[in-house]
Amino acid sequence: MEARGTARGETERRKAFLASLYSVYGEWAERFPLACRKGCSACCTSSVTMTSLEGVVIFDFLRKAGREEQFLALLARTGPPQSRPAMTTNEFAAACLGRCDVSDDDAPDGWDFSPCIFLADDACTIYDARPFGCRSFGSLIPCGAGAAAETAPIHLAVNTAFTQVIEGAGSNGGFWGPMTDILQSLAACRGGEQGMSLLAARPVPGFLLAGQEVKVVQHLLEQLRATCEAQGIGSDLIDNCMLME
Ligand code: SF4
Repeated sequence: MEARGTARGETERRKAFLASLYSVYGEWAERFPLACRKGCSACCTSSVTMTSLEGVVIFDFLRKAGREEQFLALLARTGPPQSRPAMTTNEFAAACLGRCDVSDDDAPDGWDFSPCIFLADDACTIYDARPFGCRSFGSLIPCGAGAAAETAPIHLAVNTAFTQVIEGAGSNGGFWGPMTDILQSLAACRGGEQGMSLLAARPVPGFLLAGQEVKVVQHLLEQLRATCEAQGIGSDLIDNCMLME
């Protein structure tokens, strides 16, 4: 890893943090007997959101696979999403924790059910580099036409908490939004153009957890901190998120 202190070194460190988080989360989530299988792609829509740091990881993957130019051409032909959330996950959490009214105007206009740009033949073409929003998909029953996903409440609680931690790790000038918006903006910046105006990723203001959920998330955050320390990533990205010290 490049020395901390350079902008590139810091991005590499945050990408390493993301990889550790994916690993800790992935191991924990294995306990759920999910019905999800390769070929079921009901969740793979244009409504998936992510941070710009996760977008950088996707571009790294495409470049290494020799697919970057092909993807940029596809991206240039792709229209904007049909809806955009008005708040990031951490802005929403801050509003709830501050007991502010979250008006209907802040809620997404609705889901954009058009297929994800990376979906081909009902399979993900960037599976190893998919963002957390995709990694957290999971249903205990087969879903799709006419059947909604069914997810354990603790699974949903951990998904939300980890989504917040990832947004926090990308809040050093990074941004947040629908996947195609993020990728188009990164592509524009790399081409020397100005990226579109997107929501800034925000630090974690606190979590929206109750009872047993606090203990489970705390345990996972401690595990993540230990992993980061062991890998020389440092613990600062997780220290501000700890629930009980
Ligand atoms: S990136 Fe892959 S897993 Fe995520 S929504 Fe797109 S096709 Fe599905």
